Amino acid sequence: MDGRTGLPVVGMVGGGQLARMTHQAAVALGQSLRVLAESADDSAALVAADVRLGSHLDLAALREFADGCDAVTFDHEHVPGELIRALEKDGFKVYPPADALIFAQDKRRMRERLGALGAPMPGWRPSPSDISEMSEEYGWPVVAKAARGGYDGRGVWMLSSMADVAALDGKDIILEQRVPLRRELAALVARSPFGQVAAYPVVETVQRDGICVEVIAPAPGLPEERALEAQQLAIDLATALGVVGLLAVELFETDEGLVVNELAMRPHNSGHWTIEGARTSQFEQHLRAVLDYPMGETTLTAPVVVMANVLGGPAGGISIDERLHHLFAEDPGARVHLYGKQVRPGRKIGHVTVLGDDLSSVRARAARAARWLQEGE
Ligand code: ADP
Repeated sequence: MDGRTGLPVVGMVGGGQLARMTHQAAVALGQSLRVLAESADDSAALVAADVRLGSHLDLAALREFADGCDAVTFDHEHVPGELIRALEKDGFKVYPPADALIFAQDKRRMRERLGALGAPMPGWRPSPSDISEMSEEYGWPVVAKAARGGYDGRGVWMLSSMADVAALDGKDIILEQRVPLRRELAALVARSPFGQVAAYPVVETVQRDGICVEVIAPAPGLPEERALEAQQLAIDLATALGVVGLLAVELFETDEGLVVNELAMRPHNSGHWTIEGARTSQFEQHLRAVLDYPMGETTLTAPVVVMANVLGGPAGGISIDERLHHLFAEDPGARVHLYGKQVRPGRKIGHVTVLGDDLSSVRARAARAARWLQEGE
């Protein structure tokens, strides 16, 4: 509790853009997010008032950070379970709990657990030594994934022969069937310790080179029964796994139905559109959930909402400030979020959201705005 305001203090481990946007939501709730950042230049450290510098791998730093927080949560999935358990033992409220977060940290554990729960999944095997079995059953290519630590497609390899498997020697990987996917979807839900759940409309996510570049809400042409199935699946998983806070279920849509790709237990790129596009943003919803407040409404604020990520573009060209001038002149309706991050090619440095009635024009505006910020042309 913050003695000055009588309102709770939420601590978020990690100082990236997710913490930055959670801080923005915290301000509206009368709070100020406490952030554990690695560096004073981290995206959230640039804006939050209560920033502690330290490593998420250092138990002493985590303890000091958690002291005085009403709830502790995460901007990423890299805090080892044993450290979270130590904080839980100290009596801190840490959400999601270590026993839930493991299924977002470790793809092998996730597949085993989802299998036990009967969730729809691609064919998979726990170890590279199962490669002959996998290729016989599903043919080539076979997908290899780092069990831990992958993001934005790093840690995913398409194997087209035994020789490719040998090249991965020594890595802790699992194997997956290459799913003949029509498109990728995401179902985002939030769950509170009380057990209340709230589900957002199911979205389509568009990836390029393993990175999400565009999110369309609601997923165009998705039959209502399939959308309900995806939402129910996400709610059931959040409940079965004991998630508190947000759960994003990344899905593949195939001719045969939905299969789960992976889980994230934090605000998620597929939910950035909710800042303007839903009655309650995912960031506020996450705060409400970890504080055991009642959940907010998740309905859309427009018939079509499109979010486009802004990636770091090539060096040179006009300044980002000048790009904003031009963009705002061209499209006063485009909502821009910049994360205050150093530009590196391919790095997510911001996003743009556009709301409207017509899918193709909203998509085109969002893509144009993102490309303009990215490339300045
Ligand atoms: P990351 O953890 O790096 O985000 P993902 O598991 O989400 O990795 O995979 C990144 C992308 O690779 C997915 O969005 C999808 O486009 C593709 N992909 C992953 N697994 C499969 C699969 N089993 N079959 C087909 N494509 C896949």
